[in-house]
Amino acid sequence: MSEAEVLAAVPKGLLIGGEWRPAASGARLAVEDPATGETLCEVADGSADDAAAALAAAAAAQVAWAVHPPRERGEILRRAFELIAARTDDLALLMTLEMGKSLAESRAEITYANEFLRWFSEEAVRLDGRYATSPNGANRLITMRQAVGPCLLITPWNFPLAMGARKVGPAVAAGCTMVVKPAQQTPLSMLAFAAIMTEAGLPPGVLNILTTSQAGKVTDPLFDDPRLRKVSFTGSTEIGRRIAARAMDRVLRVSMELGGNAPFLVFEDADLDAAVEGAMLAKLRNVGEACTAANRFHVAAPLADEFASRLAERMKALRLGRGTEPDTDLGPLIDQTQREKVHELVADAVGRGAKTLTGGGPLDGPGYFYRPTVLTDVPSDSRLLSEEVFGPVAPIVSFDSEDEAVEAANKTEYGLVAYLFTRDLARALRVSERLETGMVGLNQGLVSNAAAPFGGIKQSGFGREGGYEGINEYLSTKYVALPS
Ligand code: NAP
Repeated sequence: MSEAEVLAAVPKGLLIGGEWRPAASGARLAVEDPATGETLCEVADGSADDAAAALAAAAAAQVAWAVHPPRERGEILRRAFELIAARTDDLALLMTLEMGKSLAESRAEITYANEFLRWFSEEAVRLDGRYATSPNGANRLITMRQAVGPCLLITPWNFPLAMGARKVGPAVAAGCTMVVKPAQQTPLSMLAFAAIMTEAGLPPGVLNILTTSQAGKVTDPLFDDPRLRKVSFTGSTEIGRRIAARAMDRVLRVSMELGGNAPFLVFEDADLDAAVEGAMLAKLRNVGEACTAANRFHVAAPLADEFASRLAERMKALRLGRGTEPDTDLGPLIDQTQREKVHELVADAVGRGAKTLTGGGPLDGPGYFYRPTVLTDVPSDSRLLSEEVFGPVAPIVSFDSEDEAVEAANKTEYGLVAYLFTRDLARALRVSERLETGMVGLNQGLVSNAAAPFGGIKQSGFGREGGYEGINEYLSTKYVALPS
């Protein structure tokens, strides 16, 4: 399909109780193309009344959905997987239009997102419990795992489909109903996804979509509604803290996938080719706008200069452009605010004495492009090393010992992922154990995989998405005691 056709095909309303409808107030929210700054289309701008209606629809569907045969829940996910696979190109174009990254990256995200549907279609039929004899023989102990109930799922703009699929997949498999609130910058991929889930046979009310420009105001009242049982949030640590605190008013189940500040460690014995390749992926995937993005590079002193110059050479060669152009390597950042924030961090480091090997500023012209940037000799008090960059900027610092590297890696309130390059197996395992993160990329720059438990520790959050663990976020364990 053409750009105009994919935009025309996507529903623009709220999905509530199986029906697409405008916002009760009639308000609409403009969606912008970050490569041009122009409006692509408008979608419904939901209010607190719409949110209440969406939760009511989810609550009404919950009892029947929880006892819907697991095989059928799985088969709906599987049918959606097939539909998405067949429509990857159109969905990728839609995603690139609203989010900016290249078509190749959008296709990769759609494949990644879709794997969660396939994985959880298989998990839906494995919701077992256990049967045991109590140690003194007096009782039998039975456990069963049951759907948590209606969920509020809030997602960010950086992965417009995958962050939602990682929640909707397990929620559907577990028998939960839900209200999804996608980011206001990128609602279109989630709207297209919801239409596909409906086409795949998901009953009305199981998945409700609430697009809005007033996230806080619109979702806040839901936390007082006793029908809401869970919130799963992916986004910044700042907003996550607030939502987690609010959720405690009614002691809701909570999953939090928050910000990151991933260290990328290159030891003296590393394969330098592999490290540079890994760095390109860990740094530039999603234009650097990933919670898993390598935020800072700690390189053994003897390798630091060569690593920096090779990385700078590779980053300098990247072609910036509108994501829809076939030869684009790197699209724009999501908006002007994000671009200003990236530049503020670069300017802060340069002001403190960091050297610029390549890049160092925004690209002139329309759109929110930022030149791929490599900085060396970055002083340890630079904000770039402690704050999440969310852009194509690689600050490099050197270290002299393993202890120094681990200490620097852990010197952050975040704990999502770390990358580690070494050929020494003992060191690889020793350092992996010492890193304070939920995930480690060992000699590779990408950890995301639907079959793996994705998630962080410290202020990167709690709970896991994907893997055997992912469905547990949507299940409660009930224990039944009976006499022998
Ligand atoms: P954000 O500003 O925290 O927003 C995330 C979502 O929360 C959006 O849908 C947003 O709606 C909504 N929101 C904002 N304020 C809210 C409130 N008071 N109550 C309820 N919802 C609210 O994050 P972002 O800028 O979109 O995304 C980037 C962040 O996400 C980064 O920090 C990144 O590391 C993190 N992230 C983490 C993971 C992970 O798995 N750990 C994955 C991807 C991204 P609006 O769009 O209307 O503002």
